Amino acid sequence: MGYKCNQCCIHCHVNAGPNRTEMMSSETIDLIKKVLVLYKIKTIDLTGGAPELHPEFRKLVITCREIGVEIIDRCNLTILTEPGQEDLADFLAANEVTVVASLPCYEEENVDKQRGKGVFEKSIIALKRLNKLGYGLSDGRLKLNLVYNPQGPSLPPDQKALEEIYRKKMSSIYGIYFSELFTITNMPINRFEGFLRATGQLTEYQNLLEKSFNKRNLDTVMCRNLLSVNWQGYLYDCDFNQQLGLRPNCKLKHLKDLLQNKLEILDMPINVDSHCFGCTAGSGSSCSGSLQ
Ligand code: SF4
Ligand code: SF4
Repeated sequence: MGYKCNQCCIHCHVNAGPNRTEMMSSETIDLIKKVLVLYKIKTIDLTGGAPELHPEFRKLVITCREIGVEIIDRCNLTILTEPGQEDLADFLAANEVTVVASLPCYEEENVDKQRGKGVFEKSIIALKRLNKLGYGLSDGRLKLNLVYNPQGPSLPPDQKALEEIYRKKMSSIYGIYFSELFTITNMPINRFEGFLRATGQLTEYQNLLEKSFNKRNLDTVMCRNLLSVNWQGYLYDCDFNQQLGLRPNCKLKHLKDLLQNKLEILDMPINVDSHCFGCTAGSGSSCSGSLQ
């Protein structure tokens, strides 16, 4: 929905931050609704920056609810504690929005190192608020999924095993509950690429990803079943290609093109490059966690 964010994390693949001004226009938001209806799309995954900072975020959520589309909010948690967003958690719960939230560790020092000073403390406040509203509880009504990504240039550990560790630590130390843990591999692009380059680790990390290639992941890489839309309405195979400016290898370029004629959008050829090893290494990686 735009690149404005209240945080400025070192691994951010969209280079988001408080000074970014790019925001999706009302016209593009209208096109989204039309495409959702025409293609009977079941799920919309809202991301930014912090998507909640878009002035029309709530309007879009309500629209999607009205047409029966499931909504995922890629929430950085600290946004729930920002001035002016005091009622955001209630709004998300009332509209049964699934929350997917980054929490790269259950220890304060590690989270603050990656996501900024004070982020962990605010994240815990936000998670407790969400739990209180019914998020992450065993009835499964309001889903609260946490996202882990490694601190540096390494592959994530086994998702199920780490989920168990997180579950024990989060409940015993903080009294916090969540639905699932997603492990995500850091992509060597944008801000994280800059960090790797500056610390002389870029080649080594790329080699690790390539050496860990697992062809079993090819059938389930997320570009096979999603369509990424940027803040201007242009289409991409995934969020990473969007950030690299890699357009799909076909005539479909914009949401408007999808409205001209009804098309088989999942038949679009996928534009791949060396960063794709980030999705296919080891157990695989996607915005919904590991692929195996
Ligand atoms: S990783 Fe998420 S929370 Fe951090 S700067 Fe990027 S968009 Fe914002
Ligand atoms: S980075 Fe490559 S493999 Fe991963 S989702 Fe995008 S296009 Fe597919």
